[in-house]
Amino acid sequence: MAVTILYERDADPSIIKDKKIAIIGYGSQGHAHALNLRDSGCDVRVGLREGSKSRAAAEEAGLKTMSIEDACEEADLIMVLVPDELQPKVYEEQIAPHLRAGDTLAFAHGFNVHYGYIVPPEDVNVIMCAPKGPGHIVRRQYQEGSGVPDLICVQQDATGDAWDVALAYAWGVGGTRSGVIKATFKEETEEDLFGEQAVLCGGVVELVKAGFETLVDAGYPPELAYFECYHEMKMIVDLMYESGIHFMNHSISNTAEYGEYYAGPKVINEQSRKAMKEILARIQDGTFATEFMDDCANGHKWLLEHRQAINDHEIEQVGANIRKMFTWLG
Ligand code: NAD
Ligand code: MG
Ligand code: MG
Repeated sequence: MAVTILYERDADPSIIKDKKIAIIGYGSQGHAHALNLRDSGCDVRVGLREGSKSRAAAEEAGLKTMSIEDACEEADLIMVLVPDELQPKVYEEQIAPHLRAGDTLAFAHGFNVHYGYIVPPEDVNVIMCAPKGPGHIVRRQYQEGSGVPDLICVQQDATGDAWDVALAYAWGVGGTRSGVIKATFKEETEEDLFGEQAVLCGGVVELVKAGFETLVDAGYPPELAYFECYHEMKMIVDLMYESGIHFMNHSISNTAEYGEYYAGPKVINEQSRKAMKEILARIQDGTFATEFMDDCANGHKWLLEHRQAINDHEIEQVGANIRKMFTWLG
């Protein structure tokens, strides 16, 4: 295998236990990192902006909270977990003035460092520990005794042990329990953006929507279309996730498997692959980053229009009603 995968036995927990850690932001990733590190025996403080709604939740969970400035002043490892588009401003105004030589600046996604929106001083470590899953799963799996795999990366090694720090951090959030993969900021940033755009979020939502619309436009009941094209998606994906495509194929009927080989390449065809290559090129050359940051500066106009459109889509109305039947979803 070309990549290096590291586990519990490879990490030195004392490295992270000896650090004063500041977690900046208490959202999806922030709450998971802070709580997992605390439960791993680390010295954690959470830096929050003035008037933050998260303060009560963090304190209720038993965490020490303070201003972002104070947290960065105290800490020698600062993990930046505010939304990517806000990080440059928060870094410039509230974090950078409190960085000292030998400190470690950490991220959970490489966006700002890779595209140059944040340029840290040369005398600090710049590392990444990027859990490959949503924050709430990072927390849940840790509590269950397992962990979400992490990518760890080092952009700047000022102290000579930045890789060990990154690995020890991954140990603290539970990543070494399932495996930690070494990567670069470039690889993590570009692959993460491509995956979420082409396959996970962009690809899946559009595939489900197109299937639903095809059936509904042909006169089939929307509720049935929802079950076939949306609800069952999770069951199929769970089988792939747990045991591989071959096991999913073993579990479905021969009819379904025949249809899979016949129809799949017609839907995801040469045109789709060409579009994927174009999406990757726009990520690699920075076009996507520029457009996204411009929209953020413009009050998220484009993003909010599209969010409204999917919220208003029939599939969301039908789904909301059907999910009321699933009492176990709460
Ligand atoms: P989030 O939106 O869930 O949380 C961000 C937190 O920052 C919130 O507590 C918010 O109140 C706070 N915040 C907002 N504006 C702020 C400001 N101006 N100053 C200080 N705090 C502010 O963010 P997230 O999804 O956890 O993302 C954090 C980082 O983790 C990003 O770099 C993201 O790419 C990365 N990441 C996220 C996930 C995920 O599943 N959400 C997975 C991997 C990596
Ligand atoms: Mg991402
Ligand atoms: Mg069926």
